[in-house]
Amino acid sequence: MHHEKPSSLHSNPFQLPGRWYRGNLHTHSKMSDGAHHPNQVVKWYAENGYDFIAFTEHDRWTDAEVARQLSNGLLVLPGVELSVGLSRQCSPMHVVVIGDVNGLPMNGGLTPTQALTQSWQSGAFAFLAHPHWSGLSLEELAVIDSIPAIESFNYASDLENHKGLATIYWDDILGRGQATFGVATDDAHFHEADHGGGWVMVKASRFSAEALIAALRAGHFYSSSGPEIYDIRMVDDQLHVKTSPASAIYWVSSGCFGWHAHAAPGQTIESAAFYIPSGLKWIRIEVCDPQRRWAWSNPIFLMDQGSEQHPN
Ligand SMILES: [Zn+2]
Ligand SMILES: [Zn+2]
Repeated sequence: MHHEKPSSLHSNPFQLPGRWYRGNLHTHSKMSDGAHHPNQVVKWYAENGYDFIAFTEHDRWTDAEVARQLSNGLLVLPGVELSVGLSRQCSPMHVVVIGDVNGLPMNGGLTPTQALTQSWQSGAFAFLAHPHWSGLSLEELAVIDSIPAIESFNYASDLENHKGLATIYWDDILGRGQATFGVATDDAHFHEADHGGGWVMVKASRFSAEALIAALRAGHFYSSSGPEIYDIRMVDDQLHVKTSPASAIYWVSSGCFGWHAHAAPGQTIESAAFYIPSGLKWIRIEVCDPQRRWAWSNPIFLMDQGSEQHPN
């Protein structure tokens, strides 16, 4: 499938105009298997420093009109969580779609490839949800045709059975040459304290559903469970990173490539500069704070666009 790439991939959100908006892209309410009425959910996020959320009920689209009615001090995006079959380990696979899903069947009949491709082609943002929780193998991941984004951290799965982190899956896709963004979410159901643990920071020029979805599709965001990333930029062969107080800042790339800046015990750092060897196709940043919470940048693609490292 062909995303509108690669030009957008090379625009660094930290160097774009606009401001950052904090949002949770994976939320449930009583409209499916969540504990609370949507208004209570909106209230919690509005009172806890969020700018937007998306209701992503199981196989039930929260459309633009319902989203508008729910927007009470918070921007609510249209969305749905589609059932897309079972993994070989017999656990449910899900694709989360943010935006317009006109024509997408809500009967669980799509494959992951179909759900991702069709929603992306209709102008939505879509990501493969909680691959570790779904028990997906890397072989099953590899036959999904093109994955524009993956849920690299799912807070509810992290709480439930410690299967929320999926950076291994993300790096496997990137290592195969596909350009894939990583999304941290709550997957909040409010049966327990499963909210406020994973979010995206989106850089957008306007505060509207259209502008946020366009920014998500272009990868103009980073993900977090705690730390903030203030700046990432390449100056010649040096990568400069600025963050909130951190115990470690890493860059990671394919295979064994990557490096770290660790704070001294009991101390924190707020910046790092790394020499990046030539020949790498992508790098991404991970930040760990003293509470062992993380932030993850999207991959930064280092080679000239138009070459063959973007097969999708
Ligand atoms: Zn799910
Ligand atoms: Zn969910």
